[in-house]
Amino acid sequence: MRVSGIKSKLLLAFVTILFIMTGLNVGLAIYLTNQQSEREAFTSLTRQTILLQNDLQKATLDLRAIAQKTAGGTDNLSDLATIYAQTQQIITNSRQPAEYERVLVFNKVISLNRLQVVLRSAGFSSIAVYVDNELSHYVTTAEAGMSVFRAGHKALIKTGQNQAGELEFDNWPNWAEGDLPSSITSQVTPVNRPTISFYFTPEQRMVLQIVIPIQAVTQTVMRNNITLGNPAGLLVNQLSIATSETLNQSAPGQNKPVIIGAFVFQKVFDQAFLEEVASKTGLLPALYSPDGLRQIQIVDLKINPADLGQWARENQAVIDQRILAVDRESYYQTLSLWQFEEKPQLIIGFAQSAASTSQKVRETVTGLVGVAGLVLVVGGVVGYLLFDRLVNPIRALTAAVSRIGLSVQQESPDRPVTPVASDKLVEIDLRADDEVQQLTAAFNAMIRQLRQSFETLEERVAHRTAELEAVNKDLEAFSYSVSHDLRAPLRAVSGFAAILARRHRANLNDEGQHYLDNIVQAGEQMGRLIDDLLTYSRLGRSSVHRGPVALREIFTLLAEEFAGRVKEIGGRLEIADDLPVVMGDKTLLTQIFTNLLDNALTYRRADVPAQVTVTHQTEDKMVIVRVSDNGIGIAPEYQEKIFNIFQRLHSQEEYPGTGIGLATVKRSVEMLGGRLWVESKVGQGSAFFVKLPKE
Ligand code: ADP
Repeated sequence: MRVSGIKSKLLLAFVTILFIMTGLNVGLAIYLTNQQSEREAFTSLTRQTILLQNDLQKATLDLRAIAQKTAGGTDNLSDLATIYAQTQQIITNSRQPAEYERVLVFNKVISLNRLQVVLRSAGFSSIAVYVDNELSHYVTTAEAGMSVFRAGHKALIKTGQNQAGELEFDNWPNWAEGDLPSSITSQVTPVNRPTISFYFTPEQRMVLQIVIPIQAVTQTVMRNNITLGNPAGLLVNQLSIATSETLNQSAPGQNKPVIIGAFVFQKVFDQAFLEEVASKTGLLPALYSPDGLRQIQIVDLKINPADLGQWARENQAVIDQRILAVDRESYYQTLSLWQFEEKPQLIIGFAQSAASTSQKVRETVTGLVGVAGLVLVVGGVVGYLLFDRLVNPIRALTAAVSRIGLSVQQESPDRPVTPVASDKLVEIDLRADDEVQQLTAAFNAMIRQLRQSFETLEERVAHRTAELEAVNKDLEAFSYSVSHDLRAPLRAVSGFAAILARRHRANLNDEGQHYLDNIVQAGEQMGRLIDDLLTYSRLGRSSVHRGPVALREIFTLLAEEFAGRVKEIGGRLEIADDLPVVMGDKTLLTQIFTNLLDNALTYRRADVPAQVTVTHQTEDKMVIVRVSDNGIGIAPEYQEKIFNIFQRLHSQEEYPGTGIGLATVKRSVEMLGGRLWVESKVGQGSAFFVKLPKE
């Protein structure tokens, strides 16, 4: 395919580049994604692990802050103090438990309503209050209640005192006594400062537990009026959240603070939590206890607990990357140990199936190919439109240039410049805002200048031509009339000279005879010249009548006419006998070929016998007659000039002649609607070609 035109070239280049780029992109994408899918998988697994670690860290810190704030509230602590005091009282009377069944009196309960608010707003799943490390009250999202406090004792609430001085009690209002929610235990491990820990429940749950121990300075007192004859009671003072430092401090003269109870806040992480993480990350999360024994996970990745525990002990801070094979499926997995305040709390695991990774790769590549295709199409369309904008001005310019007639083909230096017609010198009307506009402006300036000089030039040429034509006409008219006028006196001179020669030559002496011969000869030559000139001039003045003429007839006559001369010079004249009929004028044609045959015999070489041949060939509706000789030939630089009038190459002595013959022949041929030309080589011969219309 040959691509021509700037537009197609640009378009082709653009599309090619687009194709190459798309191909490269896709190839590169396939190569890179394949190469790096494993690494990519591990990178995203690691990133998610770190994100989850950070989330847990933040959630835990937030929850602890809320827990401490809630436990540190004055209301709650004073409630706890009351409970504690009552508890101590019962313990001191443990010898008669049945009697004291009704003595479990609480003035006030810890404000469970308030705890419920904290539970809901802070995201705890349960809050429990422990006294002497035994469960006292709890709130979960589902229920609120109290434990079976001191087995066998009924929990009552004091409602008042009757007139007999007896206290009145009622059951705990609406509070359940019964099975504990599984995340709440009846005992809490004693701690001496706020502590965070995780534990796993059998129902595939993980519980974050924040234990906030409460300390107080206690003092045993005798109280007379509270219970059934039991004087012992406990005063509880200076309640606060216990820390290891505050526990050992005491003001002078006071008891050391002791831990009287604890608030335990819990948040449960279950399958739903993991599923949420999975849907956010597209990965499979799992949480293991640092010993590897307990876990919650979405897909069972079957890791040996002993291995897991060992790994946790050995690589405390490092993220482990491994490839697991589970049921013929392979998974990329990362494991990392999450520590909170120096203590290993959890192993976070994230996994991704290798199949889903390569699926992703496939999707990415397909997407890329799709996008690349789209880009190709959109780019092609945009490019096409842009090219139109880019190329149209250039095209318009080119069209304008070729309209003017300047060659837009390849110029060769020896090729003649095609003349520009001045009426085509029209300025180009083109709007663009780039270099094309500048080019157009420059071009138009050039056109204007050209037109201007053309107009002047044309004027001058027209003027000069008219002048020349006038002179020519005058000249021709002059030469015609002179020739005409000369003919009569010349005839008289020649005629009388001829008579004189015929009748009185013998009477003249040698010198007189010589002069007389010269007069006769000069007269004849002058007569020929005048005849030739008159013929030539007449040709320019009249038109010819054309009809069918048989060349064969003309040449039969000419052969006869020239036979004597041919014989005299020892030459040969060969005329083809199949010469056709042409359209023309018999007299003119006879004159034409007489001239050519005459020249052919005249300009012969001395060293070889003259050989003149007449042949023909046909071409379309024309006949080309060829008159060739083996004469002296014509040098290339004269081959055009010999057709001009009076153009001769030789002296009269060498070859006598007038120099009008070929000019007359040319004019005659052209008047017959033909053409005359010569081919020749010096020293070898010439061939004159006469092209004439066929009959
Ligand atoms: P002339 O009367 O001199 O022959 P022409 O016009 O017939 O005038 O020819 C012009 C010139 O062309 C001649 O002088 C001659 O030099 C040359 N010429 C014409 N025919 C031939 C030919 N057949 N071979 C060589 N030269 C020729």
